[in-house]
Amino acid sequence: MTKAGPYENVTSAEAAIERVMDAGQGVLRLAPTWVPRAFCTPAKRLRLHPHDYFPLAKDRGGIDERWLASAIRAENGPLTDPFEGLSLAVDPDGGVVPFDEFIAHFRTSAIGSHWDTHGAWPMYSKFFDNQAPLPFHIHHRDEHAALVGKPGKPEAYYFPPQMNNHPGEFPYTFFGLHPETTRQQVIDKLEGFLRGGDNRITELSKAYRVTPGTGWDVPAGILHAPASLCTYEPQAACDVFAMTESWSNHKEVADELLWKDVPEDRHGDLEFIVDLVDWERNVDPEFWSHRFTPPVETAASRAQGGTAYAERWITYRSDAFSAKELTIAPGGSAQIADRDAYGLVAVGGIGEINGQHLASISSIRYGQFSSDEYFVTADGANRGVTIRNTSPTEDLVVLKHFGPGNAELAADRANGTLGQA
Ligand SMILES: [Zn+2]
Repeated sequence: MTKAGPYENVTSAEAAIERVMDAGQGVLRLAPTWVPRAFCTPAKRLRLHPHDYFPLAKDRGGIDERWLASAIRAENGPLTDPFEGLSLAVDPDGGVVPFDEFIAHFRTSAIGSHWDTHGAWPMYSKFFDNQAPLPFHIHHRDEHAALVGKPGKPEAYYFPPQMNNHPGEFPYTFFGLHPETTRQQVIDKLEGFLRGGDNRITELSKAYRVTPGTGWDVPAGILHAPASLCTYEPQAACDVFAMTESWSNHKEVADELLWKDVPEDRHGDLEFIVDLVDWERNVDPEFWSHRFTPPVETAASRAQGGTAYAERWITYRSDAFSAKELTIAPGGSAQIADRDAYGLVAVGGIGEINGQHLASISSIRYGQFSSDEYFVTADGANRGVTIRNTSPTEDLVVLKHFGPGNAELAADRANGTLGQA
């Protein structure tokens, strides 16, 4: 039988796919999707057993990321597992079903109109968990990504307090460029990248202190060097970037990470890299006001007015995805109908979702299943799910990630409850 990373019995049998749907009535449990990174150092906040952060071959690096509701695979070097990065639904009869095949089988009943628009589940989220900050880099906008056959990549950050028992080495994120920066100054720093050592490109940028319980919006075309917090990161389902800082994690960054998504005929051309920069947004003097995303309670949550639960937008400025944080008080429950399909992950507490066990991880071994991650299909979301907090003492906290065009978000924006966002 086929294996996917540590999981046995990968099956694409129609009977298994149907069983996954039927068993959860549109609420399917996903296995944890661990992704290693050769160029990073794990900060060990992903709740794996401390001995299990280096479970793979010696040169694959440690587990730095966990991907959530992912219908795509990681591009992660020649030794990448064929299923790496892809979510797997847990078959109640044993084994796992690839999430992309589940979606392709049920189409609109799984993901609603996203199937007609994208022919796939178009976003995923992840936890990234690095001890050091990531190097200053940029993701292409659509027009530049199209030259290498990819879509552009916006992303967003939220820092779950429950997963940040320490902030890593550098709890500050560099975003954008000083308003005075010239194109030539950026070229000079990129020439420094090719010479090696530290090209100190963040001298041209500003760092912002990041705070657990808040987040940021990062459209494609904005230079950024993410802080070393454990970060929940909804993003478009693709992997396109150019690294522009030559020094990271206490060592040099390889040239291939600068040129990875540059078309063949532009390799070596630093002007192409500078063209990736959305200049106006990078030098925006009101960058903080336009990109910082403190949580905002949803209109529905406010209207409900009770103390049993609260739901807040945590990612709400992008057209490509959005996310909410649902908090249910000890002993409380929430019955919530969403208008769109979504993935969810519990970051704190314990309870039930439509009668299935739902529990944040305290500690698991690499290869064990968990009960903290689910995907709710479009039909399941419309019917509504009931989440109960069974703890007498602890909040149950769930993060929910949605695709483009969330109808509730559009309504909240239209009725003004999101302020200027
Ligand atoms: Zn990025």
